[in-house]
Amino acid sequence: MSSPLIPFIDLKAQYEALKPQIQERINRVLEHGQYIMGPEVRELEERLEQYTGAKHCITVASGTEALLISLLALGIQPGDEVITTPFTFAATAEVIVLLGAIPVFVDIEPDTCNINASLIEEKITDKTKAIMPVSLFGQPCDMDEINTIAARHGNIPVIEDGAQSFGSTYKGKKSGNLSTIGCTSFFPSKPLGCYGDGGAIFTSDDAIAKACREIRVHGQSERYVHARVGVGGRMDTLQCAILLAKLERFEYEIEQRIKIGKKYNELFLGKLKTVKQQEDRTSVFAQYSVFLENRSQFQSDLLKKNIPTAIHYPTPIHLQPAYRDLCCPQCCPEAVNVSKKIISIPMHPELKIDQQKLVVNFLCI
Ligand SMILES: *Cc1c(COP(=O)(O)O)cnc(C)c1O
Repeated sequence: MSSPLIPFIDLKAQYEALKPQIQERINRVLEHGQYIMGPEVRELEERLEQYTGAKHCITVASGTEALLISLLALGIQPGDEVITTPFTFAATAEVIVLLGAIPVFVDIEPDTCNINASLIEEKITDKTKAIMPVSLFGQPCDMDEINTIAARHGNIPVIEDGAQSFGSTYKGKKSGNLSTIGCTSFFPSKPLGCYGDGGAIFTSDDAIAKACREIRVHGQSERYVHARVGVGGRMDTLQCAILLAKLERFEYEIEQRIKIGKKYNELFLGKLKTVKQQEDRTSVFAQYSVFLENRSQFQSDLLKKNIPTAIHYPTPIHLQPAYRDLCCPQCCPEAVNVSKKIISIPMHPELKIDQQKLVVNFLCI
C-alpha cells in the first residue's frame, strides 16, 4: 500500500491560512474598480522597496517581462553580448535573444549550480553590455565577486535574475537589491507567488527606474507621449492586492522554508549529495534539489510511492534546439553534467518532518 501523496508544493494550504485577508483585498479592488494601475500597485511597490532596501520597485507582468524591460532600459542592442548561465529556466536567455543580443554562456559551480563567477572575466569583450547571474533554487550567486568584475570592466550593469530567490539574502542584503538591477517573478509556485502572472524590477538607479516605468506602459513618459519604444508590461491591480495579503505571512513562510531546507541538509548529510548552501547567504529553497546517479529509475519509483519530483533542468539552454547554434556544445561541461543528475523533491512551507523523513529514507536506501 502506498502512503498518501506528499504535495510537491502546497498552495492550497497557504490559501486556507490567509483566506479572509485575501478575499478582503480582492473585494476592495472589485469595489473601487481600478483594475489597471490601481492604488494597490504602488502600495505593493512601496512595501517591496522597504522589504528589499532597493530605492525603486517597478511591478511588471511577469518575471520574464522584468528581465526584458531591464534589458530594454539598459539600451541593449542587436549584437551586444550578455553574459549569463545556461543552467536556468529558458526565460533568462530568451529575453536576450529576443532583442537580437547574444547570450554568452558561462559554466556553473557544480556544487551550488550557480554561475561560476571566476569564469566570467575571460568571457568579457568590448561588446559585453550586461551580466545576468541567476540566483538558482533560491540562493544568490557570489554577487560581490560578480559586481567587482563588472566594476573593473567599466561598470558593466549586473542584472540579478532573482525569479526563484525573493526573500533570500547575501551577506545580510536582500535578493533584488544586490546589483544594478534585480528581477523577480510572482508566478504562483515561486517563493512569493500571486494567483496568476506577476513580477518586479528593483533598482536604486533613478534613471533606470524611470526608464523601466516608461517601458512598462509602451514607453509613455506622459499620457500619449511615447518617449521610447516599450511593451505592455503592467502587473494588474488584483494580483498586487493578493500579494499585499500574502506578505503578512511571507516572513513565517521563509522561516519555514529555511527550517525545512536545513532539516533536509541534515537528513541527507553523508548519504546523498545535495545543492550546497553557502555560509554567507540564505536560500529560500524555491527548490530542494539533490544529485542522483541513476535518476530516471528513482523518479518513477518515487512516483509510485506518491512522492512527486521535478527536474530543474533536464537540458541546459545552450543545448536546446532554439539556442544551440549560439554556443559550442562543449562550452559548459559542468552544466551538462549536473543536468543529468539533478532532481527536485517536495519543498514548501507546510511540509512536515515525517514527510521529509519518508522522502529521505526512500532516496537513501
Ligand atoms: C520562473 C523564472 C523566470 C520567469 O518568470 P515568469 O514569471 O514565469 O515569467 C525567469 N527566470 C527564472 C530563473 C525562473 O525560475
